Amino acid sequence: MSNPLKEKIVRHIEAVGPMGLSEYMHLCMADPRHGYYQRQEPIGGKGDFITAPEVSQMFGELIGVWCIQAWKGMGKPQKFNLVELGPGKGTMMSDILRAAQASPEFVKAANVVLVESSPKLQATQRTQLGNQHLWIEDISKIPSGPSIFIANEFLDVLPFRQYIKHKTQWLERAVDADDSRELKSTIGASALDPRLLPEGHDAEPDGSVFEIAPAREAIMQMVAEKTAEQGGAALFIDYGHTASGFGDTFQAIMDHKFADPFAEPGKADLTNHVDFSPLVKVAKTANCQTFAILTQGEFLLNLGLLERAGVLGQKENEAARARLTAEAERLALPDQMGDLFKCFAFSRDAIELPPFAIDD
Ligand code: SAH
Repeated sequence: MSNPLKEKIVRHIEAVGPMGLSEYMHLCMADPRHGYYQRQEPIGGKGDFITAPEVSQMFGELIGVWCIQAWKGMGKPQKFNLVELGPGKGTMMSDILRAAQASPEFVKAANVVLVESSPKLQATQRTQLGNQHLWIEDISKIPSGPSIFIANEFLDVLPFRQYIKHKTQWLERAVDADDSRELKSTIGASALDPRLLPEGHDAEPDGSVFEIAPAREAIMQMVAEKTAEQGGAALFIDYGHTASGFGDTFQAIMDHKFADPFAEPGKADLTNHVDFSPLVKVAKTANCQTFAILTQGEFLLNLGLLERAGVLGQKENEAARARLTAEAERLALPDQMGDLFKCFAFSRDAIELPPFAIDD
């Protein structure tokens, strides 16, 4: 077997039995030696997938505009943490800080904190951003004080679990090894507490899938509790849905194509679609003010995506203007990234947080 992580996982299964998807995903993504994010280039044209900041500088610039508005809404604190979770190549923060030059007071007040668990990607980010910021591996180490949190395509990489309907029960999907030591999906013995299921589960047919992500909720709870205690605002952008539903959204991406999630552990990006509704509940329970979720298209167009493309295009030739138009379309059109990606924001206080409206 040429894949050392696969060997490690098969041995583990042979010793203790099948493992849940969340454990499998954690090993695939975060194994200190062979995990996916220890690889050099997951993101970008040469990597496995392209994210919005890599599509266009306009994405990070508009997030920068949003951060400045949030800071003003917070009463312009003289010191605050500008925290990015899972910064990838550091492109979004670099675009935010460039756009924020227009507001020197904001830049002066910001203590930039990058939360990144992968040493390899931390190194890429230091090259991109310079070494003067604070890097930490997990969010428990964020300095005290008010914070603005931002995260793009961070929630989808956190481990999740799947339950599959079997007669009256929903049983956990697990990963097992077959006789030839290949990994395969199986149904484990543990059942989901039916109180966690959304309405309508009785009517679902056998084989229907329901996903939960306790690790995602735990991180959201830490961010929301810090926001409630010390002030600030948060913005999470990711692909997913606003209401819980049924369906298998587990996906493996390798070299810009869908792949078998069990074939090459550690070599494909494993994610699922983010169900925002439990995350909204977590933020409300922590006493944060939540805002109605917008699609990425609504969010960016309201923040001035087309105007920004126009300004950037002014000094450019026709080919460059066509490129800017194509980038704006990719980010905002409903059949591209515009509808699938959602923007969820909350704050401690009921402040103005355009383009969001308070959700009650
Ligand atoms: N935001 C970037 C990268 C998205 S990929 C972009 O839009 O391009 C997900 C990022 O989250 C990577 O940087 C990955 O290393 C990081 N990450 C994954 N799990 C993490 C965790 N538990 N804590 C901190 N960072 C994590």
